[in-house]
Amino acid sequence: MNMIKKRSNIILVLVIAFFAGLIYHTVNIFMNADKWVLNSLNWHLTAAGNLDCAGTIYDCNGEVLAYSNGIERFYNDDESIRKACFHVIGDDSTVNLNNSVQNIYRSELIGYNYLFSFGMPKNLRNGKDLRLTIDANVQKAAYEAMGDRKGAVFFYNYKTGAVICMVSTPVYDPEDVPEKSDIDNDEQYEGVYLNRVVSGRYAPGSTFKLITAAAGLENGIDEKKIYQCKGHDKVGGEDITCEFTMGNVDMTGAIVYSCNCYFGNLAAELGGFAMTKQAEKMGFNQVIRFDGFESVKSVYDASDLNENELAWSGVGQANVLETPLNVAMISAAIANDGVPVMPYVVQNVSDSDFERETAYADKMLTEQTARKLADMMDSAVQQNYQKWRFSNTFDVCAKTGTAEVGDGLPHAWITGFCKNEECPLAFAVVIEHGGSGYDNAIPVASAVLDAVEQSLYSE
Ligand SMILES: [Zn+2]
Repeated sequence: MNMIKKRSNIILVLVIAFFAGLIYHTVNIFMNADKWVLNSLNWHLTAAGNLDCAGTIYDCNGEVLAYSNGIERFYNDDESIRKACFHVIGDDSTVNLNNSVQNIYRSELIGYNYLFSFGMPKNLRNGKDLRLTIDANVQKAAYEAMGDRKGAVFFYNYKTGAVICMVSTPVYDPEDVPEKSDIDNDEQYEGVYLNRVVSGRYAPGSTFKLITAAAGLENGIDEKKIYQCKGHDKVGGEDITCEFTMGNVDMTGAIVYSCNCYFGNLAAELGGFAMTKQAEKMGFNQVIRFDGFESVKSVYDASDLNENELAWSGVGQANVLETPLNVAMISAAIANDGVPVMPYVVQNVSDSDFERETAYADKMLTEQTARKLADMMDSAVQQNYQKWRFSNTFDVCAKTGTAEVGDGLPHAWITGFCKNEECPLAFAVVIEHGGSGYDNAIPVASAVLDAVEQSLYSE
């Protein structure tokens, strides 16, 4: 009898201890979970969970981009805006788009106590609202300018880091998600889950000449020295060719008319080590992270290149690959005396004391090199691209690219920045198989700048 009584006492103690522990931990979670989750906008805490009763997402002007009504998630009324913001916002799913705000900030949007709050009114769930830096109308202009072409458009403030436009195509409508089998099999949705700004990687073509020029300037090459372009040259015993015969060019002329022969020779003269060192100073071979968005690496690897291939790498061909994000950050560095600011897309989170501070990436260029490159991009617009093709209002400095690829038309590129104090934007546009950068990418940048101008001066 005693034995049985003793045993049941032990069981009773264990049961009490178990419940005491459970109560302690539950209370602890309720009391402290907000600290754990909201402390630092911790993007590693991408919680699973539905977006029912989740917070609202606004653009920089207070336009509602996404909101919940009960268990349903809704997006902007304008279909073009919904689609234009698709890769920034994401859809309802937790798995489709890693690089999207609704995935990265799911914990904040849902509220920390979502596990315990099924069916509770929203105010008890503590879901936060997010205000983003993107401008819905600028997004829309970029999306519509891309049409049904695939690619990426990225504009951000090179003084503060605020991203005003981040568009990737193709997209689908988050309020009318296509059948999975259609997404998987229909060519129009190829890569639809990728935010190409950060996850797209392309031959950069002539936009890379800015890096080769930087490598030259920072290694003591005289930028005034004249090279005579005959339209073709031999480097490493094989051809490097230009689109046309450019005659006598210095480094500025070689940027203005995009002379492959000049920069091919320069890359070969500098050598793989110096080229790699400069490319890595300018964002290559590393992941770039901002606000939980995470890029793939831009790739510069000269280790297996022969001399002729090294020359081609100096004009952004051979095995060179670059993300639109990195291309834009290089223009931002050139505009900002050599130091690029880190982009950000979340301006603030409601009810939190989170404050945006400008963050800087590693210095890419000396101030002197940055200024020289800025002048060269200025000359490219003045003497070749024409200012009016970008904007009647803003003074744009730019470099186009037409990147040859193995299959189909080249990728069309433009990168640059506005000099104007009221519009300190750096940008990159890429159109996959879009043809010439001059003919095809400039009009996209121009459409975005027109929308920026309307946004700036509409009040
Ligand atoms: Zn040339």
